[in-house]
Formats: sequence, structure tokens, C-alpha cells
Amino acid sequence: MKKQFAVIGLGRFGGSVCKELYSMGHEVLAIDTNEDKVNEFANYSTHAVIANVTDENTLLSLGIRNFEHVIVAIGDNIQASILCTLLLKELNVSQVWVKAQNNYHHKVLEKIGADRIIHPEHDMGVRIAHYLVSEKIIDYIELSPDYSIMELIASNKVANRTIFELDIRAKYGCTILGIKRGEEVIITPFPDELILDKDILILIGHNNDLKRFEDESL
Ligand code: ADP
Repeated sequence: MKKQFAVIGLGRFGGSVCKELYSMGHEVLAIDTNEDKVNEFANYSTHAVIANVTDENTLLSLGIRNFEHVIVAIGDNIQASILCTLLLKELNVSQVWVKAQNNYHHKVLEKIGADRIIHPEHDMGVRIAHYLVSEKIIDYIELSPDYSIMELIASNKVANRTIFELDIRAKYGCTILGIKRGEEVIITPFPDELILDKDILILIGHNNDLKRFEDESL
């Protein structure tokens, strides 16, 4: 389903969010104070406009209230990022996702009601570290310091056995959220689902349990 997004700040992070959303067929309003940036994104967004988002009237005239999802990707200008986030929450934008520069910025964003705070460099660093140490890990998402979601390639140790036989939840405390098999994704598979060689298992659990499963059964 087509959704509407506004991306504020077209640097490396905001720019790639904008391009990706647009290429997925969504409507994207791209905003930046920098004219060159706005021109650059004219072909990668539904509308690209020059605007300073620290001004409430500007936000109102852009119709930002009608957007359910706004991404604030202003880089170094922390003051502008905070002010813009505050205004968006005051205007009742339902989902305001903000890129944080550091932990102090994060704390303020949390207090003023940002719905999701993103640390692209930190998050990507964590994911890359996990790919580096294990060839089996396809993807890794940290949910909290203790819990994560992991995508792992099923080895021949688990292949050709059902989820029931493997008894992963009882033995390892992890749950299979889904199985990727080529183009197909099997969401919340039933216990009688047979795991095939080269399937990608999407698992959720405590980091220690995920590690144990990875070490012992793959
Ligand atoms: P990144 O680290 O993701 O590359 P940058 O700091 O390079 O981020 O980019 C942030 C973008 O946000 C810049 O293009 C800048 O012009 C834009 N920006 C900064 N302040 C404002 C503002 N008040 N309103 C709109 N855009 C802004």
C-alpha cells in the first residue's frame, strides 16, 4: 500500500531513506534548506522543497500535519533537529523518527516524544561486527541490550527436520519468527514446518540464547 512520508534533511542518511522510499513506490516529500540538495532530489522524491523546518508556519504551510510519518535527518545542527522534532510532535504528527548525533541528543529527543531514535553509524557498526564474526549471520537487529532478532542460514544440522523435532524454544529459549526460502517468506511457521538446507531462519531471543543456538546447532 502506498504511504506518505516526509524526509527532512537530505544528507547521506536522509538522502538514502528518501531515495529508497521513493523507489519502493511511496509518496515522499523531501525537504532541505540547501537548494543544491533539493535540486539533486527532485527526481528521487514526489516533491522536493527548500524550507527551514525550525519555523512552525513553514511546517504548517507544507501540510506536514497530514503526514503520518516524518523522518528528521538533520545532521550536525542538533538545535534544529530538536526544535523541528518538538514542533512535529506539537502538531500531532503520529510517527516522528529522528537521527541522533550522540547520547545527549538522544536523551532530549526521548523527552520531547520522538517515536524512534536512530543512530545509523552505531547500529550499522553493531550489525557489521556480527556479520564479521559469523559467516552464518545474514542480519542482526538489536532490540535492546539483551534481546535481538537474527537471520541465520540453516545448516545441514537443522535441515530436513521439523521445528517440532528441533524444539528450539525449549532447548534454546529462542523463537522462529519466520523462514526465508528463496523469494518466499513463511511467517510464524507451524511446528510441522520442515526446515530445508539453505533456508534462512529469522530468530528472536536473548543474545546469550541466540549465541548458544548459533554455536551448537549450526
Ligand atoms: P548526514 O550525516 O546524514 O550526511 P548531514 O549533516 O550531511 O547529514 O545533512 C543534513 C542535512 O540537513 C543537510 O543537507 C542540511 O542542509 C539539512 N538541514 C540542516 N538544518 C536544516 C533545517 N533547519 N531545515 C531543513 N534542513 C536542514
